[in-house]
Amino acid sequence: MIWKDTENDKVQHVWEYGEWEIAQQALNGSLLYNYFICNVGAGEQDNWLRTTFIQRHPTATRVFVEMRFVVRDCNSFGADSLTCKETFNLHTSEADADIGTSFRKGQFRKVATIAPDEISGVGDMQINTETRVVDNLSRKGFYLAFQDIGACVAIYSVRVYYKTCPATVKSLAAFPETVAGGENQALREVAGACVENAVSEDQPRIYCTVDGEWVVPVGQCQCRPGYEPKNDSCQECKPGFFKTSVSNEACEHCPKNTEPSSSGALSCPCLQGFYRAPNDPLTAACSGLPSAPQNLAATTAQMAVGKLQLSWSPPADTGGRTDITYNVVCDRCEGSVCQPCGEKVRYDPSNTDLKEISVIISELEPHLNYTFTVEARNGVSHLCIAKRSVALSNTKNLVNNKLVPEYRITDFTVKCSLQEKDEEKNKVTTYTVLVLEKNSVQIIDLSPSTVYLFKVQALSPEGNPGSYSMEQEFSTPAEGKCRKKVKPQLKPLKTYVDPHTYEDPNTAVLKFASEIHPTHVSKQKVIGVGEFGEVYRGILKAPGRKEAAVAIKTLKPGYTEKQRQDFLSEASIMGQFCHQNIIRLEGVVTKFKHVMIVTEYMENGALDKYLRDHDGEMSSFQLVGMLRGIAAGMKYLSDMSYVHRDLAARNILVNSKLECKVSDFGLSRVLEDDPEGTYTTSGGKIPIRWTAPEAIAYRKFTSASDVWSFGIVMWEVMAFGERPYWDMSNHEVMKAINEAFRLPAPMDCPSAVYQLMLQCWLQDRSKRPRFQDIVSLLDKLLKSPDSLKAIADFDPRVSIRLPSTSGSDGSPFRSVSEWLESIKMSQYSENFSMAGIVSMEQVLQMKSEDIRNIGVRLPGHLKRIAYSILGLKDQTSTLSVFAV
Ligand code: AMP
Repeated sequence: MIWKDTENDKVQHVWEYGEWEIAQQALNGSLLYNYFICNVGAGEQDNWLRTTFIQRHPTATRVFVEMRFVVRDCNSFGADSLTCKETFNLHTSEADADIGTSFRKGQFRKVATIAPDEISGVGDMQINTETRVVDNLSRKGFYLAFQDIGACVAIYSVRVYYKTCPATVKSLAAFPETVAGGENQALREVAGACVENAVSEDQPRIYCTVDGEWVVPVGQCQCRPGYEPKNDSCQECKPGFFKTSVSNEACEHCPKNTEPSSSGALSCPCLQGFYRAPNDPLTAACSGLPSAPQNLAATTAQMAVGKLQLSWSPPADTGGRTDITYNVVCDRCEGSVCQPCGEKVRYDPSNTDLKEISVIISELEPHLNYTFTVEARNGVSHLCIAKRSVALSNTKNLVNNKLVPEYRITDFTVKCSLQEKDEEKNKVTTYTVLVLEKNSVQIIDLSPSTVYLFKVQALSPEGNPGSYSMEQEFSTPAEGKCRKKVKPQLKPLKTYVDPHTYEDPNTAVLKFASEIHPTHVSKQKVIGVGEFGEVYRGILKAPGRKEAAVAIKTLKPGYTEKQRQDFLSEASIMGQFCHQNIIRLEGVVTKFKHVMIVTEYMENGALDKYLRDHDGEMSSFQLVGMLRGIAAGMKYLSDMSYVHRDLAARNILVNSKLECKVSDFGLSRVLEDDPEGTYTTSGGKIPIRWTAPEAIAYRKFTSASDVWSFGIVMWEVMAFGERPYWDMSNHEVMKAINEAFRLPAPMDCPSAVYQLMLQCWLQDRSKRPRFQDIVSLLDKLLKSPDSLKAIADFDPRVSIRLPSTSGSDGSPFRSVSEWLESIKMSQYSENFSMAGIVSMEQVLQMKSEDIRNIGVRLPGHLKRIAYSILGLKDQTSTLSVFAV
């Protein structure tokens, strides 16, 4: 007979005691061993058979004992049957250690009397199986004993086991295998942990019953944003799907007008030209700007002189929203000079935020000509500058004589050209002119993979043509590979328009920037000085809009027309952009003497200064997050074919949420505005340290040269605003770059980030990554922050640019404060002197914990000081290992 110890599967043998004997028996061809006794008719019996010591699992207080045995029928013993018994007893005794053979009956307690269900006769063997519970066990182990009191019995096997609730996952919480409780703890409470990528407010719990079953799970684990529950785990949303919140809902399809998401997306970004209003949930479709209102007309029927009614119909395209409102703008024109009508003119019910499609305008001067512009707005209009409006001009006769207006648009011509996608031939074939009576048209049967150019011209009822609109470029998608006929769709290719292409730059400003009335802006404080004048912080309070903090760039008095145009060109460029990481233009003041450009206000100012002020205070994760924002802004600019030419940390602005936005878009700015600009032999003024070699050598400025500059910005950010190439001269920098030298990794810079910088600085510009590649790589790093843990090799002597053991004059540092100043850590001078560290000899003895103990807590600062000491030691050739 063997013991099966269920905990560790060890086989143990029982001890024999008293009259019990071991026997062998063949049954169905296999040998069975048993312990048996059959002292029938021999008077009173008390024979014990005890097991070896059975170790108890520390939490198993209740074990089960399953016995297989045979008992002979007493009747088969004839006269001896009088004292014959048909039962035996099960006993147990607890102990903290194996007591070997020192067996004492008195130590045992009885568990049960075991009786067979079926008695065996001669030659008829009935094996019984009985299970009993031994409960309330508390010591290290126990013995079992079988007491015979005069039966004829054979025990074939004894199995001792306890029950467990198996390891399980319930409601996305994992629970470990747990030993079932006993009588005194019928339900065992077990704490679990949410599976990977699931979270819960309270720790999940469950109960394990005495029978080894899980019951009553408490607390709910839910999948994080970007993950959905599937097969007891949380799995990433598939590409094209998203999930914004913690829940056990499935990921949803990206809504309308969004870019397809990558896997694990928390939201789907809006397609270019579509937006979400601040209160729109991320689950809602992105919406576009409304088209212009239609059929604008004026009437003076039954109205006093100086009064008219404007009415219009809603825009054909509401941008997918229902919150359409209208603004009416009135300009008073004399000849070709127009100016705002001013406060005198009255509007009923109002001139802004109109929900109605008509307005009554009064207090108009009969002798003046007015232009009314009606703009349709919706909940996302304030996010972008592009206005969609219709104008009605020359209403003088109307106001005066109660006549219909002189000029109304009735027909349009649409000119459509086909541009073949063969760059070398660059052939443009003019195809069609359509004359229409409505202001929209659907064009079908276009060829795939083809660029079409469209422009629109208005015709008066007499057929007099107006001037053509700007040309718009559209490209049709490629035909499917499987030769299935796909219906081509029009996809706008929005590109940046150089304000110089306008004959009159003022037209460009009018087109791309909203005019702000100077009474709506108030200046508060000077925050900077630009090339053209002061920059102020201020407040913009436009009618119908919430007050907003803004930056106001001014043009200093006495400007020439050329300066005015150069100044405003920045607004014409900025006004074409609409992206989270590009500084947003609120509008311009051009119709008054004090010309201004109003942009969103960025509380934390320029990035280079912000980083220097917070040296060592941000984690790599945060820094890479900032770089991701800048890269996204640059991707947008490069998608619009805009080349920045002066990308540098000083031209990135930071807001209170630490979002980074690209700024500085002046046309002549690289030549004149930037103090880093240096005249090159080719005559241009270029910020050498930030500029790609081909742009310095032959002014080849492209998005690839912007990528080089982005690499330098990455370096500036990871080095907390350190000057690229330190105090090397421009000439030395150009020479070094030519000789294939590149900036070394900043201290603590993740290896993956430094590798990306090196890619941006490849000599061959076609091999550099594109901004789109940079954004996806940075996204990847941010998604698995562990990827930022590997740190690039760092040489303290090169990278902190220590003046080694010497001060500027070549002699060793004369004081601790001189040394601290050289590594820009002067703020700790007092900590050193308070700790009695007053000489460089003492500094050289310091260990990293000494630096911490004198009060340097920020990891970045701690490392900078420690590395500097390491560098000093290296220079004095007493190099010793320095633990940081
Ligand atoms: P700029 O002429 O664009 O180089 O601006 C000069 C300085 O004014 C910048 O370095 C900033 O410190 C500050 N500045 C410019 N625009 C803003 C803005 N939108 N928000 C906050 N500060 C700004």
